[in-house]
Amino acid sequence: MIKHCKRIVVKIGTSTLTYQNGSLNLRRIEALVRTLSDFKNAGHDIVVVSSGAVGAGYAKLALNEYPQTVEMKQACAAVGQSQLMKIYENFFAGYSHTVAQILMTKDVIDDSHRLELVKNTFNTLLSLGCVPIVNENDSVSCDGIKFGGNDTLSAYVAIACDADIIINLSDIDGLYDKDPRKFSDAKLIDRVDEITEEIMGYAGGAGSSRGTGGMLTKILAAKIANENGIPMIIINGEDPYRLYDILDGKHIGTYFAKKRG
Ligand code: GLU
Repeated sequence: MIKHCKRIVVKIGTSTLTYQNGSLNLRRIEALVRTLSDFKNAGHDIVVVSSGAVGAGYAKLALNEYPQTVEMKQACAAVGQSQLMKIYENFFAGYSHTVAQILMTKDVIDDSHRLELVKNTFNTLLSLGCVPIVNENDSVSCDGIKFGGNDTLSAYVAIACDADIIINLSDIDGLYDKDPRKFSDAKLIDRVDEITEEIMGYAGGAGSSRGTGGMLTKILAAKIANENGIPMIIINGEDPYRLYDILDGKHIGTYFAKKRG
């Protein structure tokens, strides 16, 4: 079924894009870009929602720890975002694809006129064959206009560009009924048809120390997407070539089905 999805939003978390020390994991990004380029060649529209700006910035600035203050995070994002785009630009250019940067804040989504403009921008870029690469505009966003993480952002981006599916690349295989890092008998849930209290209860706290989202933000993002008719799948981003498994119809990760009716 997913094979027939024309427009795909791929959300890539900081833990997938960077090493423990914050530096960009070039080997993984290269594999990812190669796979996404191949998806483009096969006729899919690809929109990337990429984290990693703050992480890449703090590595580039050689800071000792992940930034804690707002001003430090905003400064790191400004440094890291251009790093990220440089890497994406170079890797995608190697496969003759053109990237386009879109930085968003939540007030864009909340204002119908601005939302319309951003929808037009996505459609125009996709009709031109570009790969939009979206992140939150971290250096200027503040409480009130924040998405609260790129999981949430990916849901709104999917709505804005009328996507057929979101693929959320995480540092975990999908949603488990309990924390697999603590319980060896934790079971992977392969499909969620309705996001109930029980499902929400499966989510633990935050994920890695490098990203901001844990499983709960992913489930909440799936809820927003599903209610707007868009399914979402969470898979492990460790091996980007596994994206082909999704297209081949193999059962991997956790699939959150869109709401019916
Ligand atoms: N926008 C943040 C960044 O690029 C990441 C937010 C998130 O991890 O959800 O660093």
